[in-house]
Amino acid sequence: MEQKSKRTQPSYSMWQNINYVLKNLWIFERKLFLMATARVPLLVVLPLLAILMPKLVLDCLTAKVGPGRLVEVVGLVSLGMIVCSFLNQYFNGRISIEVVSNRAHYVSLISQKTLNTDYENLENPEGQKKQQKAFEATSDANKGTEAVLIPLILFAADIFGFVLYGGILAALNPLIIVFLLATAVLSFFVTRRVQQYEHNNKDNWTLIDRKLWYLIDRCADFAAGKDIRLYNMSGWFGRLFETLLNDRTVWLKRVERRNYLANTVDGLLILVRDGAAYAYLVYLTLTGSISVADFTLYFGTVAGFSTWLTGITDELTQLNHMSLDICNVRDYLDLRDRFNRGKGVSLPAMGDWPCEVEFEHISFQYPGSAKRVVDDFSLKIRRGEKIALVGVNGAGKTTLVKLLCGLYHPTSGRILANGKDMLDYNRDEYYRLFSAVFQDIHMLPVSIARNVATEADGPIVTEKVLQCLKLAGLEEKVNGLPKGIETPLVKEVNEDAVQLSGGELQKLVLARALYKDTPILILDEPTAALDPISENELYVRYSELTAGRTSVFISHRLSSTRFCDRIVFLSNGKIAECGTHEELMTQNKRYAEMFRIQSHYYQDHVEEMEWEGVLSENR
Ligand code: ADP
Repeated sequence: MEQKSKRTQPSYSMWQNINYVLKNLWIFERKLFLMATARVPLLVVLPLLAILMPKLVLDCLTAKVGPGRLVEVVGLVSLGMIVCSFLNQYFNGRISIEVVSNRAHYVSLISQKTLNTDYENLENPEGQKKQQKAFEATSDANKGTEAVLIPLILFAADIFGFVLYGGILAALNPLIIVFLLATAVLSFFVTRRVQQYEHNNKDNWTLIDRKLWYLIDRCADFAAGKDIRLYNMSGWFGRLFETLLNDRTVWLKRVERRNYLANTVDGLLILVRDGAAYAYLVYLTLTGSISVADFTLYFGTVAGFSTWLTGITDELTQLNHMSLDICNVRDYLDLRDRFNRGKGVSLPAMGDWPCEVEFEHISFQYPGSAKRVVDDFSLKIRRGEKIALVGVNGAGKTTLVKLLCGLYHPTSGRILANGKDMLDYNRDEYYRLFSAVFQDIHMLPVSIARNVATEADGPIVTEKVLQCLKLAGLEEKVNGLPKGIETPLVKEVNEDAVQLSGGELQKLVLARALYKDTPILILDEPTAALDPISENELYVRYSELTAGRTSVFISHRLSSTRFCDRIVFLSNGKIAECGTHEELMTQNKRYAEMFRIQSHYYQDHVEEMEWEGVLSENR
């Protein structure tokens, strides 16, 4: 839906952004800063010498000086022009190469922010929008983060030239300057209005671009490729792509129409401005108020002054435009982290493991959603206790464990680990308390061993990797691979990578969770992709897997929760029932009802298999 054009003020003014860019340039690329500064006087002196040359020659000729003097004057001015031109070209070449790495620093800052910011900032639509705008603002050489340096150099030269040429013209008639200035200011404001329109409406096409990129990404994804073919989704993709492209074109046309209008007005203003000034100079020469040599000087100065003036408005327009890109980068970098990033209370010492965890009246709503996904939830999990979290889909189980891990910030209430508020810990230190297996699996394009021992700088303890793979039930599979634990993963990046099945990947993330020594283990549907034999093996080994840890186990398979100390049945983000399996069965409420439905199904399933002789054959 189209968002109304609203007057949103950029978060930083152009001058603040220029200051920011220059400061960063000084820090990131000092040599580049110095070369850029050196170009400024060259850009002004070079055309001034070109204007001076005919005046000096005409003066010499009028004064009837000797040829030696004439050659000397022409030679000196020419030498000055050659030296300035050479230096200018040299610096220009160096700058155009090194400016790329200046942008790379911003890309790196944005990537660092994306890797380090609070997880909730990544999932939050507002955070996503800011992130996309920041990446866009650094996506190519024309974007503010790289391109800004050239208009900055030109702007400084324009100001310098403006003052110098202005001084020459003011000596003739200050009114020329007032007239030239008035038209330039008018042109600046026309262009600025168009840019403001673009900035105010950017959100409209950012959303369309995001959807387009999503579609392009999905089209290239193998996983989606299967469904696209089997469920004949290509038509749907095509139609959606076309609709989005049309919407995008509408916005492109709106902006371009305004740009065209602004450029036309600008061209007309230049015509009027320069035409009037030249007419005045011709008038002064014809009436004998200035000499012909002076005419050439003033003619060149008016042209030069107009160029500096147009330059100032052009560069201001460009800088203003690029300032919006810089704002987009800064808005993302400024995105506030709500978790404690400073020094926190000390983590529970290993001797104090496993940890006790307490949810104290926790409520939570996702940003932009009115619904409370977790609603006044209170629970104390004792040291080493094994909790099963069950409930229907959407009850809030995953959200609860994400809150516990410190990925989201509760809307109200507190989470305590060993009696201390989660927010009192340093966020990254707090993460060290948890190993988690979530439903969405992410593998790095590195070896199996490194995927298990994920701490990139840490050594890989092979024995421990093998032990964890064994516990997770993946040892046999990995041993069967020619390169064993050195086998790379992720086919898109490594040609000789192995493609693991969903269940094998799930075992691998379990091994990863076991490898990380933590006092708390969280397993969110860890058996969803496992075959019944692997699933059973995992249950049998559950005590071994969770030894020395407090654990939270989410499963929709109620029979699997019997080996937990306590079962929490969640409904609409609240605890509906809580107790041991036997207690909940005796209470005979929803848990008991769901358990009976499931066990009835499994019983039937087992009987069916026995009837078909599947089980007996395998005995
Ligand atoms: P469960 O794990 O019990 O199936 P979840 O915790 O995943 O449930 O989800 C609880 C509710 O929160 C669901 O209604 C789901 O649609 C909603 N939800 C989950 N993730 C998000 C999100 N990132 N933004 C908005 N709503 C979400």
